[in-house]
Amino acid sequence: MDFEPDSIRVPTGHFIGGQLVAGGPTIDVLRPSDSRVMGAIPDATADQVDRAVQNAHEAWRTSGWGTRAPRERARVLMRWADLLEANAMELAQLEALGSTRPIKDAYHFDLPFTAECIRFFAECADKFGGDAVPTRADSLGMVLPEPYGVVGAVAPWNFPLSMASWKCAPALAAGNAIVLKPSELTPFSVLRFAELAVEAGLPAGVFNVVQGRGSQAGAALVRHPLIGKISFTGSTATGAAIMGDCARHGTKPVTLELGGKSPQLVFDDAGDVPNLAARIVKGFTSNAGQACVSGTRLIVQQGISSQLVDEITRQIAQFQPGPTWRAATNFPPLINETQARKVHAAVQGALADGAQALCGGDYFDVDLGGHFYQPTLLAGVDAGMAAVREEIFGPVLTVQTFGDEEEGLALADHPTYGLAAGVHTQNISRALRAVRRIQAGTVWVNRFGRTWDFILPTGGFKGSGLGKDLGRQAFEANLRYKSVLVDF
Ligand code: NAD
Repeated sequence: MDFEPDSIRVPTGHFIGGQLVAGGPTIDVLRPSDSRVMGAIPDATADQVDRAVQNAHEAWRTSGWGTRAPRERARVLMRWADLLEANAMELAQLEALGSTRPIKDAYHFDLPFTAECIRFFAECADKFGGDAVPTRADSLGMVLPEPYGVVGAVAPWNFPLSMASWKCAPALAAGNAIVLKPSELTPFSVLRFAELAVEAGLPAGVFNVVQGRGSQAGAALVRHPLIGKISFTGSTATGAAIMGDCARHGTKPVTLELGGKSPQLVFDDAGDVPNLAARIVKGFTSNAGQACVSGTRLIVQQGISSQLVDEITRQIAQFQPGPTWRAATNFPPLINETQARKVHAAVQGALADGAQALCGGDYFDVDLGGHFYQPTLLAGVDAGMAAVREEIFGPVLTVQTFGDEEEGLALADHPTYGLAAGVHTQNISRALRAVRRIQAGTVWVNRFGRTWDFILPTGGFKGSGLGKDLGRQAFEANLRYKSVLVDF
């Protein structure tokens, strides 16, 4: 599965009207594994975004995508998922080259997960409709769902293809056109993703990609009057700015999937320690910690804490940092130097605040050109420290201990974030008490991490977001509802 990074053909440009379109000025894009330039993308101006959105709106209107029989839309999306799988190696290589996803994960997880997500939403197209509602006997009341027209999507860099599928699949299945702005750090794989959508039969112009910086291209997309709804995944600060723009530019609805600081709450009766440690380790090291749902706060009951911490430390010693194009790599780089400096500064800050690094605390001692950071355990922390309060977005786990259940639950609650949580106990009553109490959009019991159950919506409470991706909720969020009353 190893591949030669310089042998990969990298597409570039915007994708508008069913084809790649050039446009300047350009932004160089680096490979995270060795920091070498892999290509460049145009940096769309507000005028270019305007043309892309006008084009999408016209294509949406004239193609009849929104009024097409739902089963026909479903068939096109199913064909698209099949084409993604048929081209899985090409796409996985492009994804691995340009992001932090190791080739094995990109091929065996991200690609099939992306295709299956599209299939889930394709199946929604003719399953969820409106309502006939109780009104006077001499009338008929109905609530009719309709697509918005053009949905704008702004995506982050951590899982470029699967994040794009979370945004695009429900919007398209519900009959909208879409203009997607990927992260300027990971702009390439979605171009091939979009080409395959058109090959599958999606009318040209119904799925578009505009490239560029968030502050310019992203903001212009959000503010465009023909964009009916915004779907955003990224940091809490950017989400707040986008929500403000949505309020000021058309009072348009917005879905925000934002950051987190998710707890892993472990009780003494959690069971087999090696198995438990494996869950905790996967929870905070997956994608080198660059995952929104990362379980970065270990909150562990005193009776099991030293045994568990020893086992976690033992397990993380097996990680092999390496370039994403090598199959043996099981620990990827951080996305770029800026992010690596941020992670290291957060760790140094914690140590200056009095924390102790039980392991890690620095870069891996490798000279690959990328920025590889060691899995790090920070003990001696408290709820007031920045390392516990703020999202680090790297492989850093803080460790806090507690005595009784009430104390553990109080520590698990975060003052600002509420994206996900893990609860580990063999006591069903305690688990369900914790599920009720924890303020988070997802609570996993005796596991940590997503499954392929696309029916479970994902999205945060509090500063972690607004609305849901995945699930029936994400499909419905791409529709607006019209009330109709017919007098006989
Ligand atoms: P980011 O907020 O820096 O950027 C996200 C996207 O927004 C990029 O495409 C960027 O170009 C664009 N953008 C930036 N400023 C903008 C503006 N003013 N208007 C419009 N668009 C703008 O986030 P990131 O660094 O790419 O991603 C990491 C963050 O994403 C983390 O906080 C992580 O927790 C979060 N995330 C959340 C989820 C979730 O489902 N909740 C999933 C993945 C990532």
